[in-house]
Amino acid sequence: ARERLFLGVDLGTSGIRVATVDETGRRRTIVTRIWPCGQSWNPAAWLHHALQLITLISRGRPSAEIAAIAVDGTSGTVFLCHPSHGRPLTPVLAYDDGRARAEAEALAAAGLATGPASGPYGGPAKLLWLIRHYAQTRAVLTAQGPWLTGMLTRCHRVLDEHNALKLGFSGQWAEGLARAPTSAYLPSVVPAGTPLGPLRRDLARRLGLRVAPLIVAGTTDSTAAFLALGPLPRGSGVSSLGSTLVLKIESPQPVLVPESGIYSHRLADTWLVGGASNSGGAVLAHYFDRAALLRLSAELPLVSDTGLHYYPLLKPGERFPMNDPTLAPRLAPRPSDDRLFLQGLLEGLSAIEARGYALLTAHGAPRLQRVVTTGGGACNAAWRTIRERVLGVPVSTITDRPAALGVAHLARSGWMAQH
Ligand code: ADP
Repeated sequence: ARERLFLGVDLGTSGIRVATVDETGRRRTIVTRIWPCGQSWNPAAWLHHALQLITLISRGRPSAEIAAIAVDGTSGTVFLCHPSHGRPLTPVLAYDDGRARAEAEALAAAGLATGPASGPYGGPAKLLWLIRHYAQTRAVLTAQGPWLTGMLTRCHRVLDEHNALKLGFSGQWAEGLARAPTSAYLPSVVPAGTPLGPLRRDLARRLGLRVAPLIVAGTTDSTAAFLALGPLPRGSGVSSLGSTLVLKIESPQPVLVPESGIYSHRLADTWLVGGASNSGGAVLAHYFDRAALLRLSAELPLVSDTGLHYYPLLKPGERFPMNDPTLAPRLAPRPSDDRLFLQGLLEGLSAIEARGYALLTAHGAPRLQRVVTTGGGACNAAWRTIRERVLGVPVSTITDRPAALGVAHLARSGWMAQH
């Protein structure tokens, strides 16, 4: 029998990565391509490069069969497309595009948008902005990963539940969306990992695939990054130390506390509970370049707490563990010794992390037993020492599991559900 491969496509800010796993879940291939200049937010480029990389993988393993494909993308990157052929009808509003400020304010004033979808970066405000500037009679709201999935299946009115959360869907569409004029643009929502149907026949032929792979509803980039870690013991927190600090923990029941910035994504039969702070590595990067971070981190005094009690933010406003749009950064006094200043920043970030996990547990997530670390700051051993002290649990690091592997696992479980 031919070897079966399950393929994941990860659309990111800087590039695209495609990975495969085999029937036992073992990784087989990973290929990466950086977006050509100016192409990050160009849907035609997403499709073009995804097809090229899939071809590259299938040609590289002529004896294998690609059995299923799933796609993840940045969450909250939205636009309108044509409901029958998928052509983009508006520019892409990337996840960090803040153009829909007036719409967000109008929704908030009317008390209509809450939780992870509120504000100018959320789906409801962005949809209103798109409708206002690009009035369309036939169009459907889509996001980065779901659009590519739609191009593979020719079904453009479907959205996975994980991507849907940032667009205003939490069990149902938010009140501000579920009525005219926005209701006409809403796709239907299915659980992540749902088998959707075979790859379009014309594309299967173009890719030289004898058997059309099953296309499976995908997920967001950060959930894919979690799935890439594989099964973790109960009570494992996953901290992503990237530009922002993102915490996740798997839980038998969902935890939804929008007023504290806590949300949950459904996995197969559990929930991924999480929160994202505005604090994170971007504050470190603001004060120190990479070389200085490495050098100073190796020289930190560490022995005891600096007592500086910083709350590191680049500008006022926090989402989680405190939801306070006016919360001011606390970064004074600044000691003349940069090592002390850096240690104070790392202690401040660690305190936010500890407070975040405590809050998740207080609202019903499992008690924290250990923490797995990913992201740009995961390599910092001094920070890990401080975090172990502040969190009071063992902290480990995983750096070589790209999100594409996680969405390949999702393709595999979608396929298994059908066979
Ligand atoms: P993003 O969240 O933007 O995808 P990454 O996961 O690549 O980013 O992480 C980037 C962040 O990692 C930067 O904000 C940077 O401050 C932080 N970082 C990089 N190297 C180190 C280090 N040695 N110690 C602490 N933080 C670091």
